[in-house]
Amino acid sequence: TKTIAVLTSGGDAPGMNAAVRAVTRTGISSGMRVMGVRRGYNGLLNRDVFEMNLRSVSDIINDGGTALFTARSPEFNTPEGVKEAADNCRDMGIEGVVVIGGDGSFRGARDLTKAGIPCVCVPGTIDNDIASTEYTIGFDTAMNTAVEMVDRLRDTTESHDRCSVVEVMGRRCGDLALQTGIAVGATSILVPEVPFDFQRDIIDRMMFTQKTGKKHFIIVVAEGVGGVDKLAKDIEAKTGIETRATVLGHVQRGGSPTLRDRVVGTVMGYYAADLLYRGKGNRVVVMHDGKITDVDLNEALNMTRTFDKQLYDIAHRVSI
Ligand code: ADP
Repeated sequence: TKTIAVLTSGGDAPGMNAAVRAVTRTGISSGMRVMGVRRGYNGLLNRDVFEMNLRSVSDIINDGGTALFTARSPEFNTPEGVKEAADNCRDMGIEGVVVIGGDGSFRGARDLTKAGIPCVCVPGTIDNDIASTEYTIGFDTAMNTAVEMVDRLRDTTESHDRCSVVEVMGRRCGDLALQTGIAVGATSILVPEVPFDFQRDIIDRMMFTQKTGKKHFIIVVAEGVGGVDKLAKDIEAKTGIETRATVLGHVQRGGSPTLRDRVVGTVMGYYAADLLYRGKGNRVVVMHDGKITDVDLNEALNMTRTFDKQLYDIAHRVSI
């Protein structure tokens, strides 16, 4: 029988558990052995690996985080580390690995594939920052959490006629800020993909809406733009409106996955195990035009992301 392994790597994301569960159950029901690897690539280096059965993944579909734990592994990210991980896999009889994680983890999977252990990648990150797929597992949960948090801020912002500057996650990718900003009716949304002008894009917009009667304001800023404390001070100095900065931080990473993340996680996990079952490695499971499919791993890593500028423009047209 063929033996495959599954690991979660890099930043955790809600819905990773649904994917691990689906890989495990699909693998076992196809007649393969499925090994769980703890703490990402570290688990391959330390042989922190255990055989899973159908019940190993019971009662995790509703949990945030990852039951397999995750890690950043600088030790793996060297030619020697990759070779050692591949040798350990061969030694343990592991013939393929499902890697659930972000771009960094995918690069690791490419290296491990080159070293002789075929990998299939599943996109799991709350940032939605992977070029090859329209959707990454965890994004929906994070957006909904961010919206809930900003709604709470809004209550107090509204009661005091204040301005709230809220930083949401997304170092290189403004998707979370854009979606959240639309959903909370932000006056301005700042993302790393679109340069902004302080006066035109924040102050003028606030003043314009104030003239028509608006008394409280929410500015949503992606982590990659940053500088929310200074921004809040500058806004207050320029407008006289009391302004507070809030960084939502890692609360956005946690929590029970939404229906969407459980379903997409399940389908992508199933798909990944099935690819390995059919002897296909070096692939990334992606969503394309709303459907789950797969692309070559090297091609995936060479793609560049496109930001939805049209949606960004709509957001600003409507928030007046
Ligand atoms: P994410 O997968 O969420 O993007 P990281 O970028 O931290 O998270 O990557 C997770 C792990 O993948 C790293 O700790 C490292 O072991 C491995 N990795 C990252 N980048 C590379 C790379 N360029 N080559 C090989 N392995 C990498």
